[in-house]
Amino acid sequence: MARVVLIEDEPGIVDFVTRGLAAAGHEVASASDGQTGQELALGERVDLVVLDLMLPRRSGDEVLRTLADARPGLPVIVLTARGEVRDRVQGLRAGAVDYLVKPFALAELEARVGTHLRVARQTPATVLRSGPLRLDLLTRQASHDGHPVRLTIKEFDLLAHFMHNPGELLTRSQILRAVWGYQHDPQTNVVDVYVGYLRRKLAGEGRAPVRFTAVRSRGYRLEACP
Ligand code: CA
Repeated sequence: MARVVLIEDEPGIVDFVTRGLAAAGHEVASASDGQTGQELALGERVDLVVLDLMLPRRSGDEVLRTLADARPGLPVIVLTARGEVRDRVQGLRAGAVDYLVKPFALAELEARVGTHLRVARQTPATVLRSGPLRLDLLTRQASHDGHPVRLTIKEFDLLAHFMHNPGELLTRSQILRAVWGYQHDPQTNVVDVYVGYLRRKLAGEGRAPVRFTAVRSRGYRLEACP
């Protein structure tokens, strides 16, 4: 079941959309102002947002920009009044995936919600998480227990490779191919050296431990974090 956040201040539309999307099998949470709606949309497990542009407390445009910034992969469908053509264009530029002009047919909204949920599911995640670790593959920022960690390009790529395969034994030759892009050279110890760098950088005092377990003569495993 997908979780949809509806941000709309017209009670009639809220009622109509909520009932329609619930009947289509979605879970709908709604907010009638931009500020509350934005908080709801930035909460846990939100799959799609339906956003009106003219809202009290915080405009739909501002909410859209904030969401595009904080959750770049989250699909947002904008609802606009007839005649707000310029707003529609701006809205799409600011990160909405689609828009509907009021009044719209519920079947049309359901179809677009279904389409964008499917697209979002097929798009690879741009943020990797594993226990206390978080990697944003777009901005290339890493954090450990919420604290930013400065990584070099290769350290970042190596950590991303481990986080794509948590709990799996990765051999040195697999890691070399995936991260350094060269064929196995039995002499090189570059993987061991870089795992050492990561261990040091991720050993912050008081932070949840991150364990790279060495598997004798074969490679390493990033232990699944609690
Ligand atoms: Ca409105």
